[in-house]
Amino acid sequence: MAAPAPTPRYTKSTLPTKVCATCGRPFAWRKKWARSWDEVKYCGEKCQRNRPKAAD
Ligand SMILES: [Zn+2]
Repeated sequence: MAAPAPTPRYTKSTLPTKVCATCGRPFAWRKKWARSWDEVKYCGEKCQRNRPKAAD
C-alpha cells in the first residue's frame, strides 16, 4: 500500500499562467502572487510600471 501523498496546490506542470498585459508574454504563477493572483496582470514590476497607457 502506498502512503497517501500530500497534494500540493500547484506543481511545476500545473501552474496557472497568464499573459502579461504589457509585454504579451505568458508567465506562471508565483508564490508571491498567492493572494492576489486574480489581480495580477503583469509578469513583473517592470511591466507593471511600463504598462501601456490607457486611452489618453
Ligand atoms: Zn511583461
